[in-house]
Amino acid sequence: MSLRWAPDVTELPKVDLAVIGAGSAGCCAAYAAARLLGPGRVMLIERYGFLGGTSTAVLDTFYGFYTPGKEPKKVVGGIPDRVVDRMAREGEIMLRPNSYGAGTGVTYNPERLKRVWDEMTQEAGVQVLHHTLLVDAETDPDGRLRSVVLATKSGFYRVRAAYWIDASGDADLCHLAGYPYEKAGDLEPAQTLTTTFRMANVDLGRFESEGGKTMMLERMKDASELPRSKGSAHPMTIEGCIATVAVRVADVDATDVFALTEAEREGRRQAYVYEQFFRGRVPGYENARIVGLAVGIGVRETRRVHGEHRLTRHDCLSAANYEDRVLLCGAPIEDHRKNHAGGEETAWAYVPGGATYDVPYRTLIPKGQPNTWVVGRCFSATHDAHASCRSMGQTMSMGQAAGIASAICVQKEIAPQQVPIDRLQEALRQEGAVLEMPEMIADTRVWKVSQEMNR
Ligand SMILES: Cc1cc2nc3c(=O)[nH]c(=O)nc-3n(C[C@H](O)[C@H](O)[C@H](O)COP(=O)(O)OP(=O)(O)OC[C@H]3O[C@@H](n4cnc5c(N)ncnc54)[C@H](O)[C@@H]3O)c2cc1C
Repeated sequence: MSLRWAPDVTELPKVDLAVIGAGSAGCCAAYAAARLLGPGRVMLIERYGFLGGTSTAVLDTFYGFYTPGKEPKKVVGGIPDRVVDRMAREGEIMLRPNSYGAGTGVTYNPERLKRVWDEMTQEAGVQVLHHTLLVDAETDPDGRLRSVVLATKSGFYRVRAAYWIDASGDADLCHLAGYPYEKAGDLEPAQTLTTTFRMANVDLGRFESEGGKTMMLERMKDASELPRSKGSAHPMTIEGCIATVAVRVADVDATDVFALTEAEREGRRQAYVYEQFFRGRVPGYENARIVGLAVGIGVRETRRVHGEHRLTRHDCLSAANYEDRVLLCGAPIEDHRKNHAGGEETAWAYVPGGATYDVPYRTLIPKGQPNTWVVGRCFSATHDAHASCRSMGQTMSMGQAAGIASAICVQKEIAPQQVPIDRLQEALRQEGAVLEMPEMIADTRVWKVSQEMNR
């Protein structure tokens, strides 16, 4: 695709690596690469005025660090650990042990996380551009990505880079470059969208003494005004505050601006229906109010790029092993969708025996492309596999792997497909990544800050 009109475009100096999108995946990718390549060689492009994407705009809990079940294992490590360490040092995380669902969650203060992403990218010398939207990609005849065009308030800019990482969540870079992908909703119902919200002034002592979560879910079932009869509301790291994942907006193509606009409005409408319900029907919430809505409605999936390997449901449920693994995942397939009666449900399918499956390096490379990776929620997976492997423990690990791989490619001037896997895995292990299922059962009561956190 190329611009059909001719605006003034200012050329920026060429960089070794440009990362599009600064969510959990993009931040880890840029950080990992910049630490190996040195300052000023990696650019991180983000449309919002803060880093973190969904991790800071929508959510407050990392899942995927621990396997679910009675004997949890910690299966994520390295840069994601360092992100948590920094928040733990400020007293801004708590573990929420859970043997069900995606396992124990690492709950954090998302405002603190914005600062942590700033600090880490600054320390590594990443060039960050905020308020900058990717609008075009320019490719050579062989498909090689040459440059992109960025729209900002100070005009249009062209950035050239030797290598690229698409961490935009929606695969905007691959879409603009014309690389093949499939879209959620084309083959199966797309996962629903959620406007999360945070409430302050909750009397959690009273809530617990009146029956806590069980009571809340009972009351939700009886409340016909609610868009759905389920939903999670959990304590935040700040006293008297809760965060919810309850709203559901279905049948939205989040790459369609008109549909997305409607979804934003509907999500906020539903949030206030929940506020009224909580205040009127749930003991402990009498004086509570919404103090924060998601910056934008949370989008679970849109485009899924076709990579050198596509992760499948079978990979997940057979605990598949791959020689070129770059991360592990033990999270179940968690599919938020409409049921046959038109209501909402979440379908779960677990990796058997509390095991993990390997995520191959090849799922991070758009098929046949010579200088690009794709990480995070637009990586190469089917709908079901994506529904398992999209937790932020895994999206951060994908960023870590692609960031290190890109540094190897810059140094050796090779294509992503030519990266020596043993070298990549060795670098990942040195970073602290987990590539083998640990034998030790994890202590999920408390986070242990690594002594080497500022390595
Ligand atoms: C409602 C909801 C609840 C969830 N619950 C959990 C949970 O509790 N725990 C968990 O671990 N996971 C959860 N997930 C999944 C997880 O949050 C996501 O899969 C993950 O955050 C995706 O990270 P990402 O970096 O791939 O994408 P994102 O976080 O979406 O980041 C993409 C970034 O790219 C930027 N961008 C996009 N397009 C452009 C462009 N054209 N130009 C410039 N910048 C661009 C965006 O602004 C954004 O910052 C949830 C997801 C949703 C939606």
